[in-house]
Amino acid sequence: MTAAVPGSVDVLVIGGGACGALVALHLLEQGGLRIALAEPRPAPARGVAYSTPRVEHVLNVNAARMSAFDAAPDDFLAWLRRQPESVGIDDAALAAQFAPRRLYGRYLQARLDAHPARASLDLHAAAVVDLERDRAGCVATFASARRLHARAVVLAIGNLPAALPRAAPAIETVDAWDYDAVAAIAPDADIGIVGAGLSMVDVLLTLQANGHRGRIRALSRNGLMPLAHAPGTVPQPGGVDAMMPLGVRARMCLLRQWASDAVAQGRPWQDALERLRPHVRALWQAWPETEQRRFLRHAARLWDIHRHRIAPGVAAIVDDMAATGRFSLQAGRLSRIEARAGRVCIDWTPRGGAPTSTIVDVVVNATGMEKRLSHAPGRLLPALRARGLVAPGPLGLGLATCGDGEVLDANGDPVPGLWTLGASRIGELWETIAMPELRGQAARVAAGVRQSLAGY
Ligand SMILES: Cc1cc2nc3c(=O)[nH]c(=O)nc-3n(C[C@H](O)[C@H](O)[C@H](O)COP(=O)(O)OP(=O)(O)OC[C@H]3O[C@@H](n4cnc5c(N)ncnc54)[C@H](O)[C@@H]3O)c2cc1C
Repeated sequence: MTAAVPGSVDVLVIGGGACGALVALHLLEQGGLRIALAEPRPAPARGVAYSTPRVEHVLNVNAARMSAFDAAPDDFLAWLRRQPESVGIDDAALAAQFAPRRLYGRYLQARLDAHPARASLDLHAAAVVDLERDRAGCVATFASARRLHARAVVLAIGNLPAALPRAAPAIETVDAWDYDAVAAIAPDADIGIVGAGLSMVDVLLTLQANGHRGRIRALSRNGLMPLAHAPGTVPQPGGVDAMMPLGVRARMCLLRQWASDAVAQGRPWQDALERLRPHVRALWQAWPETEQRRFLRHAARLWDIHRHRIAPGVAAIVDDMAATGRFSLQAGRLSRIEARAGRVCIDWTPRGGAPTSTIVDVVVNATGMEKRLSHAPGRLLPALRARGLVAPGPLGLGLATCGDGEVLDANGDPVPGLWTLGASRIGELWETIAMPELRGQAARVAAGVRQSLAGY
């Protein structure tokens, strides 16, 4: 009952990573709303990606494209220009720079702190574990059992960590997103990394920066890792209409054709991916479910390594680690991870080979984000699912949503006043995790929330 609830706000934003901070900023913009931002991390606006304290963890998008606002495309660049770290760097080099992610976190937090209406925003340094609907909105329960009423709620819970598969229950592992734990790995330790995406790259960079001397072996199902950006990528317009009616195989052939045409004309293959980027939502949604499943089975990993690229300098470090035998990546299927004689044994089967074991001192979980609602960690999403307030998105990925991020309940109806953005929309949008996509989502969610509140 609302009467038993101590506090009340207009909007509660759950999750204070980049998305939550941006939604809060947009809501503050027009004033008149009391907003609460719930985030258990010590600093707001950082989330998983931008809370790293490590200077070697750089953005994988250049500074010129990392503004937090579509309406002010140079905002990050202008802020970066004023930082002591930028002294002596000319404008062109700064725009092309892949800045440390910790700087980007500082930028987002600075934008939040400096907002003239900042006093209308309350920070709650705690996780929300449950939400109940009432006639005037939702009642949120925090981990401390404290409750807060909100007329509208935005789920900005971002990248939820995936559990390490097939690990024995008592096994101790290091999480790739636990930046301090990775940095504390002994320099002589033999390391096994499960997963070969951007989180693995982060781990390699930290080990390299710490002068790691032990062997580093990574394992992933297909042995593929992110490719590098090319300087001067300039997307060509058009051609997407021809791609729209095609299935997975035909689209991939056409994309390959675009890439080779680009190379033949002296441009990087990366141009082809950038050409598609603004159209990914429409392309994804044009496929029937069978075709989307085919893409997940056969092409998603290939798509990811070409689309979610790393800075050229980062790729050079990883290449050097591989060339000098300090790092290797294997393709294979993981069977079991368990403790054996004081070390850790990874049982796995190489692609096309016989089962084998790799003995290491430390296993790092770099499997990235959990996309399936059925496997969501933590208390909040399971509680919301049990209440029927959320349902799995297309293919079981993320949450069922519509429009600009209205959450659909178990009956497929929009839950009044409940919104989401970011990774939770992956089933519906496919590309929904990088800032160039998220900043627009944040503005639209804030506008939608404001409009829905005005309708009360
Ligand atoms: C390692 C890494 C590097 C990346 N690098 C880049 C990059 O260079 N450029 C780029 O564009 N994108 C990058 N990304 C993509 C990144 O996901 C987005 O840029 C953006 O940070 C996503 O923000 P978010 O707020 O949606 O999610 P998150 O950063 O995951 O933030 C969600 C927040 O919600 C909080 N939360 C979760 N559950 C609850 C709860 N129940 N109650 C209260 N709070 C809760 C979490 O503590 C977390 O802080 C990277 C992602 C990762 C993981």
